[in-house]
Amino acid sequence: MLTESSDAVDGVPVRYAARPTSTSDVADVLRHTAAENLAVVARGSGSKLSWGRPPERADVLLDLSGLTGIVDHAAGDLVLRVRAGTPMSTVVDTLAPAGQRLALATRLAGQRGPLGGTVGGTIAANPPGPLRYAYGMVRDLLIGVTVVRADGAVAHSGGAVVKNVAGYDLGKLLCGSLGTLGIVTEAVFRLHPTPESTAVVAKTVGSGDEATRLAVAIRHSQVAPSGVELNWTGSGGTIAVLVEGVAGGIEARTDALVGLLGGDAEITALPDWWHEPVAGNTILRAAVAPTGLGALLDAMPDSAVARGCAGLGTVHIGLINPSADLIVTLRKVAQAHDGTVWVEQAPAAVRQAVDSFGPVPALSLMRRVKRQFDPDRRLSPGRFVGGI
Ligand SMILES: Cc1cc2nc3c(=O)[nH]c(=O)nc-3n(C[C@H](O)[C@H](O)[C@H](O)COP(=O)(O)OP(=O)(O)OC[C@H]3O[C@@H](n4cnc5c(N)ncnc54)[C@H](O)[C@@H]3O)c2cc1C
Repeated sequence: MLTESSDAVDGVPVRYAARPTSTSDVADVLRHTAAENLAVVARGSGSKLSWGRPPERADVLLDLSGLTGIVDHAAGDLVLRVRAGTPMSTVVDTLAPAGQRLALATRLAGQRGPLGGTVGGTIAANPPGPLRYAYGMVRDLLIGVTVVRADGAVAHSGGAVVKNVAGYDLGKLLCGSLGTLGIVTEAVFRLHPTPESTAVVAKTVGSGDEATRLAVAIRHSQVAPSGVELNWTGSGGTIAVLVEGVAGGIEARTDALVGLLGGDAEITALPDWWHEPVAGNTILRAAVAPTGLGALLDAMPDSAVARGCAGLGTVHIGLINPSADLIVTLRKVAQAHDGTVWVEQAPAAVRQAVDSFGPVPALSLMRRVKRQFDPDRRLSPGRFVGGI
């Protein structure tokens, strides 16, 4: 079941590895690690194991890359059941021939990336994508989940239908939990039809205020875009709006957008920065009220790059060796606009100087949830907010 390993997770040495290929294998491993009091860190494709804090210990690396496969694609019901180690690219390739997509993992014409990772890693890391403007994030598309708890018990939540009974929603708790609550082994997602037609309208913006004003205007318009993305470098940038739908309606909507945005707004190809990671050795994930975006952009140094959803006020900020003071300042600006700044990735010196997550209002509730799921703190201990 366990083999010796000389691997490491974010600099923390691993002693053993396991590569389960089924939910019951995962349950066997976790029963064993519970009996031996071993800490377990899950790994999908391993691309985001440095997000969050380094684990306090990582006795066992649970490699889920063998737990793959589409279990069921109910095309008529727009529902997909898939194993957690399945690459997101497989999800895209499976759905495309049926004219469907998981709105998280879609690849638009002209898009370069990123589309790596596995289903389980995507649930646990909860990465924001451009289509969240219209479709939300993982939690909005995940309708069911199978999870193995720290003690090896298998739990199911939700189901294979879009309409589910109300109640305790395990899937939503797991989104963004960085492997600290349970090991996802299977997920059920709601799907959407691939739109018949798409178009992009882009406009340069010269100030944070202008970016905010336009994003708010788009939000209050009738255009109903799928994405409202901003690429910001120094003191200016571009706002790009994705419109999707039936071919007949697209033209009127893009015309309306060009009129609404004014200036040099025009219909263009998908910009080459669309959903591209920002450059920098330190990446912050910032979320503010959409009206606070300008203040956040203004607080950034000229060397910084910001990219993300202007329409929702959620951007990634790329920095090079930032001071702790800069991160604290950006956090204060975000807090003044009902927001947060999370250090997604950074060199060790930065992560030692500043807390990755910053203040979290619901921390005591999160700690109670952790105690319920993993009272002995064996799943990725210390990786999440407040050392959860
Ligand atoms: C919509 C979207 C937006 C994206 N945006 C970005 C972006 O802005 N920047 C970027 O760099 N990448 C981005 N990506 C890529 C994305 O971050 C990775 O694909 C994914 O989050 C990590 O997958 P992984 O398998 O490599 O996870 P890993 O790196 O292996 O694991 C990530 C975390 O999840 C935990 N984990 C892994 N599998 C499980 C499981 N089965 N159960 C419980 N916990 C588990 C791990 O312990 C770890 O904490 C995006 C992807 C999508 C779909």
